[in-house]
Amino acid sequence: MPPVIDKDRCTHCGLCVDMCSEDVFYGSEKKRVPVVSYPKECWHCNACVNVCPVQGAISLRIPLPMLVCYK
Ligand code: SF4
Ligand code: SF4
Repeated sequence: MPPVIDKDRCTHCGLCVDMCSEDVFYGSEKKRVPVVSYPKECWHCNACVNVCPVQGAISLRIPLPMLVCYK
């Protein structure tokens, strides 16, 4: 599942946009809530969630097959 951003919690810092290696947030404007332009490019690395300074502002639902692989 691609990242989901809670618009009420997001502070528009842009760190998740800068962190994503796959340009999932391509076209996002500075100081605005990031847009998920290429959801299918997300490979669930969790980097955007880890870099976000606001708890719960961005989240992922890791697909079950990937969870199994992590164990
Ligand atoms: S989980 Fe990784 S690939 Fe997916 S949007 Fe976040 S930083 Fe990009
Ligand atoms: S890192 Fe978090 S607070 Fe910053 S723009 Fe992304 S979702 Fe919003």
